[in-house]
Amino acid sequence: MIQINDIRVPYRDADTEWKKYAAKICRVREEDLKSARILKKSLDARKKQDIVYLMSVAVSMDPKMEKRALGSGDSRLQLYAHPHAEEIQLGTEPLHGRVVVVGLGPAGLFGAYMLACYGYRPLVIERGRPVNERVRDVEGFWNRAVLDPESNVMFGEGGAGTFSDGKLTSRSKDIRGMEVLRIFKEHGAPEEIEYLAKPHIGTDKLRGIVSAMRESIERMGGEVHFSCRLDQIVCEDGKLTGIRICRNGKIETESCGALVLAIGQGARDTYRMLLGAGVSMQPKPFAVGCRIEHPQEMINRIQFGNTAAAKQLGAAEYRLTGRSGDRGVYTFCMCPGGKVVASSSGKEQVVVNGMSDYARDAENANAAIIVQVGPEDFGTDPLSGVIYAERLERDAFLLGGGDFRAPASRVDDFLAGRKSGPFGNVLPSYKPGVCPADLSRCLPDYVAGGIRDGILAFSRQMKGYDLADAVLTAVESRSSSPVRILRDEDGESVSVGGIYPVGEGAGYAGGIVSAAIDGMRAAERIIRRYRPSSI
Ligand SMILES: Cc1cc2nc3c(=O)[nH]c(=O)nc-3n(C[C@H](O)[C@H](O)[C@H](O)COP(=O)(O)OP(=O)(O)OC[C@H]3O[C@@H](n4cnc5c(N)ncnc54)[C@H](O)[C@@H]3O)c2cc1C
Repeated sequence: MIQINDIRVPYRDADTEWKKYAAKICRVREEDLKSARILKKSLDARKKQDIVYLMSVAVSMDPKMEKRALGSGDSRLQLYAHPHAEEIQLGTEPLHGRVVVVGLGPAGLFGAYMLACYGYRPLVIERGRPVNERVRDVEGFWNRAVLDPESNVMFGEGGAGTFSDGKLTSRSKDIRGMEVLRIFKEHGAPEEIEYLAKPHIGTDKLRGIVSAMRESIERMGGEVHFSCRLDQIVCEDGKLTGIRICRNGKIETESCGALVLAIGQGARDTYRMLLGAGVSMQPKPFAVGCRIEHPQEMINRIQFGNTAAAKQLGAAEYRLTGRSGDRGVYTFCMCPGGKVVASSSGKEQVVVNGMSDYARDAENANAAIIVQVGPEDFGTDPLSGVIYAERLERDAFLLGGGDFRAPASRVDDFLAGRKSGPFGNVLPSYKPGVCPADLSRCLPDYVAGGIRDGILAFSRQMKGYDLADAVLTAVESRSSSPVRILRDEDGESVSVGGIYPVGEGAGYAGGIVSAAIDGMRAAERIIRRYRPSSI
C-alpha cells in the first residue's frame, strides 16, 4: 500500500471527494484505487476563505501503478508501513495471590482489559456503581442536589471521564494510544476516532462503550465488583500481600500478588489511607480556576468566519495560552456545544468541569481557564496540594450558598472586580444552579488575577472572548492530580513492592487516553513478569 500525506481537501469536499484528491496525487483514476482508507484528518481553519482538511490516506492499487507513483519523486508519497505494537511474552514468576485492579476509570479499565486478554483473570474492584445506576445517581445530584459520595461524576464505572466530552486527544506518541482507540472502536465507538486529529465520542456514546468493555473483561474470566472500596493494604517486608475491601459496609480480605492502583484523583480518603500505610508520594504542580461559557455560535463565527460552516465542520473549538506574571494561564478541556457540570465527590465541595454529547449541539461553548499553582503556594507535605484543592472547593461551596449551587459571575463584573448581578444573554448551564457572586472571594488573588490577565490576553487572540455576558463558574480544581505516587523504573511503588500506581490519580496521566495507556503499560509489566495463575 502507499501512504499519501498532506492532501489538502476543501472542507465541503472532504466527505465525498477525498479519494479523487488521493488518486490525482498518484496520477491514477479514482477507479484504479482498489482500497483506500483515511489515516489522519485534521482541520486547518487559519484562512477563513480557504478552510481545508489536511489528510493522510493509505491506498492500494495495481503493483505497477504503485511502483510508478512511488517513483514519481512526489514527497507526499511513501510506502505504507502498518505500525505494530511489540509482542508481549508471558512471564514465569509465580503469583502469590490474585492480580487486582482498583478503580474502573480508563487506567483500570484498559489495564484490566489487557490482563484479561492475556489470561490473568483480574479481580477488579470499583467503589462506585455500574453506569446505568450511576447515571441515575448523578442526575439526582444535578437535579436535586442530593450527592451520593460513592456514586457521582468522579466515582463509578468508566471513572471520571464517563460524564465528559469524551475527547480522545493525547500528546503521547506511545503506540498504545492507537490500541486504545482501536479497542474503543471495537466496543462501539465511531470509526472516525482512529483517524481524526481531535477525536471525541461524547458522554452519550462513552457510557455504552465502557460497559461493553467491562462485559468483555468478564467474558474473558475477569471479575468486576461494584460498590467495593479498597480500604487498606496489607504488607510484609515492604511487599504487598493482601488488601482489605469494604463491600456494602462489610470488610473482606483478599490475598493479592500484584495490584494495579488506578484510583483517579477524586479518592482523597484513599490517598490518606495509602500514605498512612507507607506508600510514598509527593505534591505536584497543577492548575486551578473556573469555567467560562460563551454562545457556541459566537465561537463558530470567530473560528470559521461564518456560522454556516459549523453545519459541516461541527461546533468550533479553541485552545488559548497566556501568562500572568510568572504563571502560565490557559484554557483547558474545551467542550464545544456542551455543559458545565457539577463534579463534586464529597460533602461541602463545589467542583466544576465540562461535558458534551457526541453531537455537541448545546447552546454554549465552555472551557476551563486555569492558572498554574505549585508547592510554593501550598507547601511540600505529600498531601498539601490535596488540602489546597479541598479548601478552594469548600470556599466555592460556601460562596455558592452551601447547597451545591456554584458561585458564578458575568465576565464584565469579574473584570471590574465586583459582585455579579443578573445574567444576560448567556445563561449558566451548571446544575443544580448558580449563585451570582464576586468570584475573587473564593479564589486566591494570584488565581483571580491570572484569570483576568488570561481573559484580556485571550481576547486579543480571539476578538470578543471578553464578552460582557459570558459566564464564569467556580471552581475548577481537578484539571490534574495534585499528588504523585512515586514509582520505580519497573512501574512499582518505590516503597511497597507489588503496587503499580497508574493513571491520573497517581500523577502520570491527564486525560482518558493517557490514563488508558498508563494502565496498559502496568498490565504489560505484570504480564511480562508473572505467569498467569489459575484461581
Ligand atoms: C466532567 C469531566 C470531564 C472530563 N473530560 C475529559 C475529556 O473530554 N477528555 C479527557 O481526556 N479527559 C477528560 N476528563 C479527565 C479524565 O476523565 C481523567 O483524566 C481520566 O478519567 C483519569 O482516568 P483514571 O482511570 O486515572 O482515573 P478515574 O477516571 O478518576 O477513575 C478512578 C476510579 O477509581 C475508583 N476508585 C477510587 N478510589 C477507589 C477505592 N479506594 N476503591 C475502589 N475504587 C476506587 C473511582 O471510583 C473511579 O471510578 C474529564 C474529567 C471530568 C471529571
